[in-house]
Amino acid sequence: MKALVKAKAEPGLWLQDQPEPEIGPDDVLIGVRKTGICGTDIHIFSWDSWAAKTIPVPMVVGHEYAGEIVQLGSAVRGLAVGQRVSGEGHVIGLGSRAARGGKFHLAPDTAGIGVNIPGAFAEFVKVPAFNVIPLPDEIDDELGAILDPLGNAVHTALSFDLVGEDVLITGAGPIGIMAAAVARHAGARHVVITDVNPYRLSLAGQVADVQPVDVSAEDLGSVTRRLGMKEGFDVGLEMSGSPAAFNQMVDHMVVGGKIAMLGIPSGPTTVDWTRIVFKMLVIKGIYGREMFETWHKMLSMLQSGLDVRKVITHRMAVQDFERGFDIMRSGNSGKVVLEWQ
Ligand code: NAD
Ligand code: ZN
Repeated sequence: MKALVKAKAEPGLWLQDQPEPEIGPDDVLIGVRKTGICGTDIHIFSWDSWAAKTIPVPMVVGHEYAGEIVQLGSAVRGLAVGQRVSGEGHVIGLGSRAARGGKFHLAPDTAGIGVNIPGAFAEFVKVPAFNVIPLPDEIDDELGAILDPLGNAVHTALSFDLVGEDVLITGAGPIGIMAAAVARHAGARHVVITDVNPYRLSLAGQVADVQPVDVSAEDLGSVTRRLGMKEGFDVGLEMSGSPAAFNQMVDHMVVGGKIAMLGIPSGPTTVDWTRIVFKMLVIKGIYGREMFETWHKMLSMLQSGLDVRKVITHRMAVQDFERGFDIMRSGNSGKVVLEWQ
C-alpha cells in the first residue's frame, strides 16, 4: 500500500510502498479516503526535538482520517465491512484505575496512532474496534477527516458552562476557530477570538459568528469596553500555546473566571501566579478528547446545525503532500485535507 512514512530521522516525509497492516482479532482494517494534516504532523515532518524523542523511525504517520471498514477481526461484533468510519486516535490500556473507572481519557497508558504506533496517512490503517466511530450519512469524508481536531475544540469548549457567558479564545488556528463555532452553537453571548495573523482572523470570521481581534494592533481592553463587558470574560479557551496570549487572558478574565488550556507552549513559561490566586481563577489542562463522550457530542452538534466546513481551506491529492505541508506551515490556511482515493 501507499503510505506517508517518517522513513529517516531527519526533516521530511516520504510517500512509499509499505506492507498492509495485519489485524488481530479485536482490530478492524480501514480503507482510508481522506486525512487531515495536523500541527503534530508538522512537528514530525520538521523533526523538532519533541518529534526526535517521540517518533519511532521508520513509521507511517497521521491520525486524522475518515474511511471505510474493509476487514473485521474475528472477535469484532457490531461493526460491518463497508461502514464509513473515523476513530479515536488514542489507543489506551484498560488496566489503569482511570480506565477501569470509565475515565478513558485520563488513562495514563496511551499510545497515539501516527505518533507512537502506525498511523492513518496510508491506504489502510489498523485500529482497535474499541476506537472505531461510525459516521452518520450527513457527515461526509472530508468532515470525517477533521473530527479529531474538532474533538479537541469540543472537549476544550465544553469544559465549562458557556450558556450566556462571554468567551475569550486565544489563537485562531483551526482548533481555536472550531472552538469559537462550538461556543457560539452552545449559546455563549460574546465570543472573542484573538490572533496576530490576519489570514486566520479573517477565516475565523467566515467560519463562526465571532469577534476577531488582532492583538498586535488592537488592545483587548478596548474590545471588552466596546462590547459593554464591565468585568471581563467568564470563560477562556487558550488555543495558541503562546505565553503572551495566556497572560493577556488572565488579565481579561472576571474574578472567578474559568480557563481551559489546550495550547502547548514550546517550553516552560513565566506566569504571574499572584494574579491567578487573587483572581481565584480555575485552570484546567486539556489533552485530547473526553473520548467517546466528546465524539458523541461532536456528532450530535454537527447533526443539529454546527457548521465548521469552511475551516477546510485546501484539498489535494496525497501526491501533493509537500505542498500541503508548506501551506500549513505558512500559517495562511485552515485545515488541509489530503485525498487518498
Ligand atoms: P496553530 O498553531 O495552527 O494555531 C495557533 C494560533 O495561535 C496561530 O494562528 C498563531 O498565529 C496564534 N498565536 C500566536 N501568538 C498569539 C498571541 N500572542 N495571541 C493570540 N494568538 C496567537 O494550532 P492548532 O492546530 O489550532 O492548535 C492549537 C494549539 O493546541 C497548539 O498549541 C497545539 O499544539 C495545541 N494542541 C493541543 C492538543 C492537546 O491535546 N492538548 C491537541 C491538539 C493541539
Ligand atoms: Zn491532530
